[in-house]
Parts: sequence; C-alpha cells; structure tokens
Amino acid sequence: MKNRGRKAMFSLLPVEFRQSAIEGRGVFAKKAFSPGEIIVVYAPKHERLAADDPRATEAAATRLTLFTQDGYVLVPDQSAPGGWLCNHSCAPNAALFSSGDGRVQCTRPIARGDEVTIFYGWVTCNGEGSAPCRCGAPACRGAINFDVSDEDAANVRIENGQLVTTNTRVRAKLEEYAEFLQSIGQEHVQRTVATTLARLKDQPKGV
Ligand SMILES: [Zn+2]
Repeated sequence: MKNRGRKAMFSLLPVEFRQSAIEGRGVFAKKAFSPGEIIVVYAPKHERLAADDPRATEAAATRLTLFTQDGYVLVPDQSAPGGWLCNHSCAPNAALFSSGDGRVQCTRPIARGDEVTIFYGWVTCNGEGSAPCRCGAPACRGAINFDVSDEDAANVRIENGQLVTTNTRVRAKLEEYAEFLQSIGQEHVQRTVATTLARLKDQPKGV
C-alpha cells in the first residue's frame, strides 16, 4: 500500500490511555494479554539522564522516573502517553522492567478493557511521602507505600544484604510484608526495604 503521508486513522497501540477510577489517567488493554507479553513501552518519548545529573534528582522527586538496568534515569516526556501512566495496584496484572528503555509486561492474564496495573514498590521513611491506595483489590493494603521508621531501623541489622532482627514487632512487620511481596511476585522490593533501613541507620539523628 502506498503511504500518501496521511495520518493514521486509528492507533495500532494495544492500549488506550483514559481516566481511571484509581487515579488520573490510566492504561487500559484494548486486547487480551497473556503473561510474558509486552504491553507498552515505558515512555515513547523521554530524556535519558545520568544518575548524578541534578535534573534526574529533581525528576525523581516527582516519582515519574525509571532507573534503568544500565544506570540511567529515564524521565518521560509527558506529552507522550506510555507505560509511565500505569496506576499502582496491590494485586497488579503487569510489571515494569527496567532493561533498555523500559517496558510494561503482563504477569497475569488481562482481558480487553481491563486496567493495566503495576506495583510501585515505594518504601517511605517515618511517614513522609505516604500515599493512600485506591486500587480496589480485595486485599488492598490501603497505602501504595511501605513505611519504615527510625525505630524499625534501630532494631535491625543488615547481614550480607539480609535483614536480621530480634524485635518481635519489627520481625512480624517485615515478615508480613515479605509474604505479601512474594504472593504478588514482587520479592525484589525487599531489597529496597533493606537499603532504606540501612540508610536510616546511617543517618545521624537530629540533624
Ligand atoms: Zn491497593
């Protein structure tokens, strides 16, 4: 077929971006997806910044960034919708992969019309930056983030990257979250929990 330079009449993207009951604009499937299928790229248009670029730090504060496996920070150009619009869910049906330019990939069967959701894995400190979750999943945790406190940090040691604690309350809290992460295939977030607790321990208090 000859391309006469006309604009496409319809989008070939297998997703659409529209208002979500969870929050703002979300990503919705226009076809069924099976686990393992790539759904959408993270950001069709983006800036790729070095991790120590001040603009990367600034963008990270908005939480709209992707740290790639090769150590860069992708900042989406918000004029171009993409996987960066995926809402968080406590029972996600997709996951964000950070190799190359990033992609959202199906992890549970998705039907046409379903909202495509991912697990953000945010770990916050001392209640700062907590975000309520409205994902509507039966097992919704009520918050997008998992919060750790100075008190938690004071009660853990990090040994070979593993959290060790003799405190019953802290152990129960961490074990419960670890089990939840495992149930949704997001075990890697435990690493973020460990590094966040380690950072809290290192920070001089009262400064
Ligand atoms: Zn939720």
